[in-house]
Amino acid sequence: MPELPEVETIKNELSPYIINHHITGVTLFWHRMVHQPSVEEFCSRLIGQKLTGIVRRGKYLIFNLSSGEVLIIHLRMTGSLLLKPASDEPDKFIRAIIHLDGENDIHFRDPRKLGRMWLAANDSEVLKKLGPEPLETSFTPQTLNRRLQNRTAPIKAILLDQSVVAGIGNMYADEALFAARIHPLRRGGSLSPDEVERLHHAIQQVLWAAIGNKGASTDTYFRPGGETGTAHFQFQVAHRLSGDLCPVCGTPIERIPIRNRGSYFCPRCQPLNPPGEIKSTDFL
Ligand SMILES: [Zn+2]
Repeated sequence: MPELPEVETIKNELSPYIINHHITGVTLFWHRMVHQPSVEEFCSRLIGQKLTGIVRRGKYLIFNLSSGEVLIIHLRMTGSLLLKPASDEPDKFIRAIIHLDGENDIHFRDPRKLGRMWLAANDSEVLKKLGPEPLETSFTPQTLNRRLQNRTAPIKAILLDQSVVAGIGNMYADEALFAARIHPLRRGGSLSPDEVERLHHAIQQVLWAAIGNKGASTDTYFRPGGETGTAHFQFQVAHRLSGDLCPVCGTPIERIPIRNRGSYFCPRCQPLNPPGEIKSTDFL
């Protein structure tokens, strides 16, 4: 699933090819991707607009339009945005094409058809519940600490909550918790100030490293030019096979379900402390 580093990479690699280009047409192969407004209005209001900028917020891409409106795209589980020559035949997983003047069109590829698009007057109506950006300087250990106070849910589940921190998903939550040596089932409010500081540092470190490696292609993620990212080659615990050993201590990595997501961790490097604080069956 594309998370912050993948969406950031897509933004960075699309920008030079689409900014200042005009939308000349929209082709939809899967109408249910358009969440707002109606499909007809979505297409007619986009045509003729110039793309003036593109920003990322959490896992959302926000395309600024010359009218002042915004086109917002969420790739969900399996979406990619690909730059394709206008003459290119779409493959069977292309759900939408945004045609541009010039050489390239944007193909929205999405095997599971879960991606979404909105056309809105501004981004606040769609993104109002998003928490802080973890790579902004305003996101400090104190910001994180305030958001964990009195929370009884497992820290792994809290990190996946986009209203707490924006952009972190299953892969980078596992990686950050491993780097911080914190068990995924620790209650959020039980973390010491020292642990919160370690987690804050680990979140920023794993996200920056993954952006440097152009995201992780563990599944269906491709960069706009069709290349894969290489961030998953640096993963310590995420997406490991059962029986894989911890790269630090050699203990077999464990996988447990938390809120229906597989969570990978090293039981030795990330001890449950105090022992038995949470029973894993509480969150199956
Ligand atoms: Zn270990």
